[in-house]
Amino acid sequence: AKENGKNQMEIYSSELNSLTVERFTMENQLRKALEHGEFVLNYQPQFNLEKNQIIGFEALVRWKSPDRGLVSPLEFIPLAEETGLIVPIGYWVLKEACRQNKSWLDQGFRCTTVSVNISAKQLQQKDFVEIVKSILEETQLPPANLCLEITESTAILNVENSMSMLIELSELGIDIAIDDFGIGYSSLAILKQLPISDIKIDQSFIRDMDMDKDDAAIVRAIIAMAHSLELTVTAEGVETKEQINILLKEECDYVQGYYFSKPLTAEDCAKFLS
Ligand code: C2E
Ligand code: CA
Ligand code: CA
Ligand code: CA
Repeated sequence: AKENGKNQMEIYSSELNSLTVERFTMENQLRKALEHGEFVLNYQPQFNLEKNQIIGFEALVRWKSPDRGLVSPLEFIPLAEETGLIVPIGYWVLKEACRQNKSWLDQGFRCTTVSVNISAKQLQQKDFVEIVKSILEETQLPPANLCLEITESTAILNVENSMSMLIELSELGIDIAIDDFGIGYSSLAILKQLPISDIKIDQSFIRDMDMDKDDAAIVRAIIAMAHSLELTVTAEGVETKEQINILLKEECDYVQGYYFSKPLTAEDCAKFLS
């Protein structure tokens, strides 16, 4: 038994070690990834449902790692957030998305908004507003063509801190959207104190909406409440015609999902726009 116990400890600690080593390895690779320009952005189109018109794109980061291949943000954003690497990565993402959208505008494509995901860590930076301003200045993208997506939890976690920053950003003409709405604990009433213009309903509610009456009821309630607060609503993860029919009936403003398009490379996006 004593022997056994020791072995288990050893196994346990070696598993723990390999996890630690893996995290450490990934952290170092992430650091180099930024220097070596291994990040790329994909862009997923967003549509006005009623008018059937493209209104913008969400910028989604991918990591083209020489060691790991194409890595999903779900695999590296959490570690980037823990280590603070999300701050420089997020800076690159924001600048690249603004640069790209400005270039599309210059090429005469119809005026669209690029939406960029912002982590809590980024919003906690004292100079976040200055950083956004400097990127807009450098890229010459009009603020009205930029939207910042923050999650419900990021917004609520920092209501006091974020408030003045978000007010400043929205006064510049930048749109603020609440991402993944519905899975957190916040109410629209609290969020309404923030200068937001759009609510993105989490895709988990959209996914089962056509089969699950409760999800359909939640979606209906979010849309009604958002509209009564004069916010627009975006449905994410729209994959089927049935979902679209429900969203049309509930007068959802904007939609995004595989039914319309997967996230595209910048090149494919330009084809989409022209
Ligand atoms: P998110 O902000 O909720 O982005 C939407 C995710 O849903 C994207 O996954 C998108 O590819 C996926 N998606 C879009 N349409 C559909 C659909 O019809 N069905 C399904 N099943 N999925 C759909 P992706 O690109 O893997 O990104 C995952 C998450 O990683 C994002 O979720 C966001 O939280 C985070 N992320 C991505 N890029 C960035 C970034 O630049 N900065 C930060 N901080 N986070 C990012
Ligand atoms: Ca998002
Ligand atoms: Ca706008
Ligand atoms: Ca989302």
